[in-house]
Amino acid sequence: MSTSIQTSTGLVGTTLEGAADLTRMERIGAHSHIRGLGLDDALDPRATSQGMVGQKQARKAAGVLLEMIKQGKIAGRAILMAGAPGTGKTAIAMGMAQALGQDLPFTSMAASEIFSLEMSKTEALTQAFRRSIGVRIKEETELIEGEVVEITIDQTTGVGAKTGKMVLKTTEMETVYDLGQKMIEALTKEKITAGDVIQIDKASRKITRQGRSFARSRDYDAAGGDQRFVQCPEGELQKRRETVHTVTLHEIDVINSRTQGFLALFSGDTGEIKPEVRDQINTKVAEWREEGKAEILPGVLFIDEVHMLDIECFSFLNRALEDELAPVVIMASNRGVTRIRGTNYTSPHGIPIDLLDRLLIISTSPYSQQEVHKILAIRCEEEDVEMTEDAKDALTTIGMETSLRYAIHLITASALAARKRNASEVDVQDIRRVYALFLDEKRSVSLMKEYQQEYMF
Ligand code: ATP
Repeated sequence: MSTSIQTSTGLVGTTLEGAADLTRMERIGAHSHIRGLGLDDALDPRATSQGMVGQKQARKAAGVLLEMIKQGKIAGRAILMAGAPGTGKTAIAMGMAQALGQDLPFTSMAASEIFSLEMSKTEALTQAFRRSIGVRIKEETELIEGEVVEITIDQTTGVGAKTGKMVLKTTEMETVYDLGQKMIEALTKEKITAGDVIQIDKASRKITRQGRSFARSRDYDAAGGDQRFVQCPEGELQKRRETVHTVTLHEIDVINSRTQGFLALFSGDTGEIKPEVRDQINTKVAEWREEGKAEILPGVLFIDEVHMLDIECFSFLNRALEDELAPVVIMASNRGVTRIRGTNYTSPHGIPIDLLDRLLIISTSPYSQQEVHKILAIRCEEEDVEMTEDAKDALTTIGMETSLRYAIHLITASALAARKRNASEVDVQDIRRVYALFLDEKRSVSLMKEYQQEYMF
C-alpha cells in the first residue's frame, strides 16, 4: 500500500485542481455574489464589501475564527451558526470558504446528505471529515534538461565567502553551475541576505536586488540574461526539484482503496472505505510528517441544517472531533428548541446538550430594510438585471414582509417579465406581476388553509 500512495502523489497533484474547480462551480448560485467576509486588515467588517452586507458581529466572529484556522490553532473545534432563516449563515460560511485560500480544504454539506442507502451515516460523516483535511505533500524529482527550474547554489563555494545562498532560475541545464559561479563573482562586491531577489536585466546589463540596481555583471552575456536569483536556505547545486501537492485525506483514501480509485474521485462513486485502509494511510501520513515530507492542513467542514442529524451522528461527531486529524466543523441551524432526531428529547437547535456545550456559537440577526435593499441590489448586479429604484424599493418591501430568499428569487423572474414587454429595466409592474404569479410561504399557507378540504389527506 505504501508504494501505491507514493506513486499516486503525482496523479493526485493533478486531480486536486480538477476537484477544486468542481467545488467552485457548485458555489455559483445563491451565494455567487459572496467573495469573502468583507473585513479590513484589523478584521473589522466593512459595511458592504466583497458582496457582504451588514451582519457585522457574525462576520467579525467568523473573521477571527478564520485567522485561527489559518494559523492551524483550532483544528477539532466546532462552531454553530444560529439564526433565523435567510439571515446569512450559509453566506458567511461561503465567505469564509472564499477567504480560506486554495490550500485549505472547505467542504460543504447539508446534514440530510448523510442519509443514503449506499453508505452508513458514520461512513458519510467520516468521508466528509477526511475531505476537509488537507495533506501538503512534498515530492522530489530529478530535473529534466531544459526545464524552467529553481536551483540552489551554495554561495560559500563561490568566489568570496558569503553567508547567503541563492536559487538560480534557468532553462539551460548544462550551464547552470557556470552561471551560478559567474553570478557569484559578479555579486561579490555586495552582501546578499536572506530573502533577496536578484535579477539580471539583459537590456540594461544591470543586476538588481529587490528591483533596485546594485551591481554590474562583468560577464553578463555569458550569464544568459533574464535569470532570476532568489535567496534560499540550504544546499549546494541542487539537481532535484521539490514539488508540492495538496490533496485531501479522502482523496488519498479513495485512490488507495480501489483499483479505479482515481476515476472514482471524479464520479463521486467512492463507496465505503475499509477502516484498515484508513489506518494504513494515517500511519503512512504520520511517517511522512516525521520525515518532513508532508504537512497536515486541517480545513473546514460546513454542515448546514445540522438539526437534521440524529443522535447517532451527534455522538459520532462528539468523538470524531477529539481525533488528531479533525477539521474545524461549522454547523448551521435555523431551528429553536426542537426534537433531537432519534430521541424523544428536545434541546436548542435539536443538538444534544453535551455537544452544544463544546460549540462556539455565532448568532445572526434579522436584517434592516436598508440591508435587505443593499443585498437585493447586489443580487441584481450579480444576475445582470437592470432594475429601477422604485422596483428595488418594492422588492425590498416584499423581502421584509416575506423573506429575503423569496425576494431574491423574484429578481430573475421579474427580469423575464420585463423582457416580455420589451423593457430593458425591471419596473414595479414586473415585480407586481411575478409577486402575483409565485406565492411566498405565508400566502401559500393561508391558501392551503382556505382550501384545506380540497387537498388530499
Ligand atoms: P437558512 O437558515 O434558511 O438556511 P441562511 O441563514 O443560511 O438561511 P443564506 O442562505 O445565507 O441564509 O441567505 C439567503 C440569501 O441571502 C443567500 O442568497 C445569501 O447569499 C444572501 N445573503 C444573506 N445574508 C447576506 C449578507 N449579509 N450579505 C449578502 N448576501 C447575503
